[in-house]
Amino acid sequence: MTSNAARDADVVVVGAGAVGLAIAAQLARTHSVVVLERHESYARETTSHNSGVIHAGIYYRTGSLKHRLCIEGNPMLYEWCEAHGVGHRRVGKLIVALDGDESGALDAVLAQAQANEVVGIHPITLEAARDLEPHVPATAALYSPNTGIVDQVGYARSLESAAREAGALFAYHHEVTGVARDLDGFVIEARDADGHATTLRTSALVNSAGHGAPAIATALGYPLDGGEGVPMLRQHVNRGAYFDVVGARFARAVSHLVYPLPRPQLEGLGVHLTLDLDGALRLGPDTAWWGDDAALDYRSDATRQAEFLAAGRRLLPELEAEDLAPGQVGYRPKLSGPGEPEADFLLWHDRGYVHLGGIESPGLTASLPLARQVAALL
Ligand SMILES: Cc1cc2nc3c(=O)[nH]c(=O)nc-3n(C[C@H](O)[C@H](O)[C@H](O)COP(=O)(O)OP(=O)(O)OC[C@H]3O[C@@H](n4cnc5c(N)ncnc54)[C@H](O)[C@@H]3O)c2cc1C
Repeated sequence: MTSNAARDADVVVVGAGAVGLAIAAQLARTHSVVVLERHESYARETTSHNSGVIHAGIYYRTGSLKHRLCIEGNPMLYEWCEAHGVGHRRVGKLIVALDGDESGALDAVLAQAQANEVVGIHPITLEAARDLEPHVPATAALYSPNTGIVDQVGYARSLESAAREAGALFAYHHEVTGVARDLDGFVIEARDADGHATTLRTSALVNSAGHGAPAIATALGYPLDGGEGVPMLRQHVNRGAYFDVVGARFARAVSHLVYPLPRPQLEGLGVHLTLDLDGALRLGPDTAWWGDDAALDYRSDATRQAEFLAAGRRLLPELEAEDLAPGQVGYRPKLSGPGEPEADFLLWHDRGYVHLGGIESPGLTASLPLARQVAALL
């Protein structure tokens, strides 16, 4: 990457989610960086609509980016949170078999976790599982001590501060509407909240726009379905809804993350129990395909309450309909479509352009090592 005085920045980063912010914080140490974000502030899309789990790297295909960056990102995220005063807790996670038939599947998860060199995961006895979570009818369980939770928005705030301190400039309310290559870099068109157009010139462009990433690649002339050295860039959208467990009898009833065994016929990890830093309990996320080009609708609704109650009762048999209230909704940007095998993260570099595609879970956990990889590419 060359620095050029006629340019507004060495690097323009599109998107102020956890990934774009981590990249900006990393690159601003050595380059002039401008971050363009269409919303009024950081973390308004996927980064603030997720489970906030610091994953340990259990399920991913061994050797994939999801696996390697999650394993690397887990201790890095804990260290970052400690150094920057970001709320987090190493609460630990239980993966539970709920009847005798599931114990073989639990062994398969353990084998995958061991192949992935997940630190500390181990089987525990039925008695130990019941001690840890008396309300959950586990028949066998795995315990992952290094899975935890983080205040996602606090984490994003800390990354934004670190990027600003290193000299990055932030242009909120600036939506990238067009991009073209010029002789030795890129010309970017952005529109502000009043509809005014701005043009920026940069040597390098990092597309960490989450759900907006394919549109920017299209503007640059890349075919979304790939070809001639271009990977598949098209993303599909998968909605994940949650229900809050509001019943007073469940206040502080669960103190670990509790996951059923993943069911291959379902995308995602199956509806599970997560906690936030206040100890509030919620069920989710579920999975449902959403129109690729449909506007994202973050409003919650009760349409799937019966399914959540059924899934929730497997983990907490005493749960009643009135214990549940519709919670947040998030949208996964996925490179794999319905029925297709799970795709890996895409990190693709072409002559100063870096494309981050399909940054679904564990993207929050992996954000710091992803940023390092982007810096290495440039
Ligand atoms: C339901 C759900 C649960 C999850 N749970 C976890 C979890 O527990 N742990 C974990 O590690 N990960 C989890 N994830 C994944 C994690 O949330 C994401 O990987 C991560 O937040 C992605 O961050 P990002 O910066 O890539 O995307 P985003 O946060 O979506 O940021 C992209 C930004 O780009 C901006 N943008 C888009 N287009 C443009 C444009 N044209 N011009 C300007 N700005 C633009 C958007 O406004 C947005 O702010 C979950 C995801 C979902 C959906």
